Amino acid sequence: MSSDLMAGPSFTVCGAGLAGTLAALYLARQGSRVTLYERNPDMRATSVPRGRSINLALSTRGLHALEAIGLAQVIRPLAIPMRGRMIHSPQGDLTFQPYGRSAEETIFSISRHQLNCALLDAAAGCPNLEIHFSSRCVGLNLSAMTLDIEDAQARVTRQVSAQTVVGADGSFSSIRQALQRAGRYDYSQSFLPHGYKELTIPALPDGSHALAKNYLHIWPRQDFMLIALPNLDGSFTCTLFLAYEGAESFAQLTEDDAIRDFFDRRFPDVTPLMPTLLEDFKRNPTGAMVTIRCFPWQYAGRVVLVGDAAHAVVPFYGQGMNASFEDCFVLDACLRRHNGDTAAAFLDYQRQRKVNTDALAELAYENYLEMRAKVASPWFLLRRRLEYALSGVLGDRFLPLYTMVSFTRIPYAEARARAQRQDRWLDLALTMSALAVCLALLWLLWRRIG
Ligand SMILES: Cc1cc2nc3c(=O)[nH]c(=O)nc-3n(C[C@H](O)[C@H](O)[C@H](O)COP(=O)(O)OP(=O)(O)OC[C@H]3O[C@@H](n4cnc5c(N)ncnc54)[C@H](O)[C@@H]3O)c2cc1C
Repeated sequence: MSSDLMAGPSFTVCGAGLAGTLAALYLARQGSRVTLYERNPDMRATSVPRGRSINLALSTRGLHALEAIGLAQVIRPLAIPMRGRMIHSPQGDLTFQPYGRSAEETIFSISRHQLNCALLDAAAGCPNLEIHFSSRCVGLNLSAMTLDIEDAQARVTRQVSAQTVVGADGSFSSIRQALQRAGRYDYSQSFLPHGYKELTIPALPDGSHALAKNYLHIWPRQDFMLIALPNLDGSFTCTLFLAYEGAESFAQLTEDDAIRDFFDRRFPDVTPLMPTLLEDFKRNPTGAMVTIRCFPWQYAGRVVLVGDAAHAVVPFYGQGMNASFEDCFVLDACLRRHNGDTAAAFLDYQRQRKVNTDALAELAYENYLEMRAKVASPWFLLRRRLEYALSGVLGDRFLPLYTMVSFTRIPYAEARARAQRQDRWLDLALTMSALAVCLALLWLLWRRIG
């Protein structure tokens, strides 16, 4: 079933998280009638839930999708620039690794709650957009195009009709489950052996940050790591990424003494800055990290998936939300290009996005290895410097992978393939240089002996 946008089709969006609210805003801007269902109460009137990532790294792709809908001015004041990684060695030494080639190339730390609230405020201001909170989608009938919506307070389920459904209900999407039941559906999920836990470094008594503010701080320790992102209120949100099982793992950190001893030994420079460490560690849940791949992302021009519902990735490239926002931008462009023919638009959107979010899943996994182990290695740092130096000389003909992913909108798959080609050239150049040095040394030796 296709619909003509100008004739006023209606969209039902499930999930008023980051992707769902932005998707709803884009659809409403096209003149469509949009109904947005969210299982939780209105977050603008509730406190921040514990356990979800409290702050996120926002970069070019996400910013671009927000700018394109006129939200940049609202969002920018909420964001703190982070110019690079500040690496903390076990001895407490600091090494700065810039993210970009210039001061303009920075990523931004932003509160998930404040960002989502800003999107909801914008959505609440759209006359053709209706939001229902505490309304969980518990079923979708694809042939009748009806949704079962459960009212969280009254615990009653009602059936609503939907012309076109956007599934933006996160990693364990109920809309995707309906597509799975339709048959011949590709689906895979794989969990990391590591989980994550959020901890806090509060602001100093004068309200300032206890660590240098404009950096993403990392304590890489080979098999695990701690990171910290700044918040506007002077605090930092830290995330410990640690194995569930093993010698140093969440399974071993059940007693106060064990927790304290682990932090004192492994992160001695930051532990004194965390007065509520024990309380936070015991109270905050341990989150799992999953990669989800599925196909197709659409059903007959009637249903489409965006955000984590279509492609959950592990958080190590800081791109899950950015890619989800990019989905919304591309979906909007496809609907315009196909003049509201949702069947053609959804196929086009799926063709453009699937290959790229698959590449992002690989990139995010590769960065999982890089961040906890490689960032501390001198060889890695040398290579990094060489890449940036080459980029300085060759300009856009040689772009470091991080630059392509975080500071351009080059499709993820293209960025990954290009980086692999560049890596091969760099390996060849380094091998040739090493060979030339060896030959020169041999020649000098031969001259001396001769
Ligand atoms: C530890 C961690 C750190 C991260 N850091 C970054 C980062 O730095 N940068 C970045 O770009 N990304 C990051 N991400 C990824 C980012 O959080 C996600 O990609 C992003 O939240 C996806 O948005 P979404 O709207 O698709 O899904 P979600 O944020 O999961 O939102 C889904 C919404 O749907 C609602 N919902 C769920 N089920 C139903 C239902 N049945 N009916 C109605 N509503 C429903 C939920 O309540 C929620 O509001 C991180 C993720 C984690 C776990």
